[in-house]
Amino acid sequence: MSALLKDSYNRPIRDLRVSLTDRCNFRCFYCLPHGEPPIAPKEQMLSYEEIEYICEIFVELGIEKIRLTGGEPMMRRDIETNIGKLAKLKLKGLLDLALTTNGYFLPDRAMGLKQAGLDRITISLDSLKRNVFKQMTGVDVLDRVLQGIEAAKNAGLQPIKINAVIVRGHNEDEVADFAAFAREHDVKMRFIEFMPLDSGHDWSRADVYSGREIREAINERFPLVPIDVARGSETSSRYRFADGGPGEIGIIAPVSEPFCGACSRIRLTADGQIRTCLFSTVEHSLRDVVRSGATRGEIIDFIEAVVLKKEPRHYINDPGFVTPSRTMSFIGG
Ligand code: SAM
Repeated sequence: MSALLKDSYNRPIRDLRVSLTDRCNFRCFYCLPHGEPPIAPKEQMLSYEEIEYICEIFVELGIEKIRLTGGEPMMRRDIETNIGKLAKLKLKGLLDLALTTNGYFLPDRAMGLKQAGLDRITISLDSLKRNVFKQMTGVDVLDRVLQGIEAAKNAGLQPIKINAVIVRGHNEDEVADFAAFAREHDVKMRFIEFMPLDSGHDWSRADVYSGREIREAINERFPLVPIDVARGSETSSRYRFADGGPGEIGIIAPVSEPFCGACSRIRLTADGQIRTCLFSTVEHSLRDVVRSGATRGEIIDFIEAVVLKKEPRHYINDPGFVTPSRTMSFIGG
């Protein structure tokens, strides 16, 4: 059994999200509406060797799940090789290697990801209507993403999760249609509340279509039954269809139903900063420590000390809430 990474509130840290790049080929209005800021110099970014070394240390410290994200992780060159190396950490205690993607590159590359050793995939899909998809993501590629979902299924990257951020005035009328999609395609549909992590700083509480509203909208057409498993550190509350239909529903409601008490997550940005919460206002440069020539023991001491600084909870609902300076595309959602 590996050493256990624990924060100062006794929460075990088991889940590492690694951002492979800040770059993205979509312009989702709730994330990167004004396009990418200037590309950071390459030397500021962690190399694949550094990512592999750091991940190996994290696995030694008890990390069981690694999720690769971004930006759009598939925009980084040759992620299949990186996935192949990270998959070897399964011999050292890693249980689950996953990827979150906008799906654009999957029609051609899903099979290669599976062959490289990826276990699971989460694909973002904010609308089933071509015009709304284009309006929300800034790109007119709904058909291609749908093909990507099919390709991921055919490649055996199951169970496939589909993420939809529901924003009032944009796609809330599609919630039950997404549930129908989950049934038709036998996928896990996950609905996410809009969080104040948009680079345009246009987030408003009034735009948040709440977890409760999502549940009600689905229940009207497809009655749901809570899945009777301990939620543990999962972000979503999970439901199955009462009629036994295929697929599953997950509702992620960090704004209206925070779940920080069971958080097991920690994040590594593409430029090597540890973030202990999506809403952290401080970062800790693991890159600088690794590049300073620190020994493995010193790197472990640094990680353990940073984990002890993990925030007890996010403060979205407090009057003094400060939006993090980096947005979702930099933090790694
Ligand atoms: N490019 C990949 C993708 O599209 O899935 C991975 C990175 S993206 C930042 C990860 C997830 O964060 C996506 O499902 C996206 O919809 C979600 N996301 C981004 N900004 C968000 C926000 N302000 N509120 C809620 N979810 C957000």
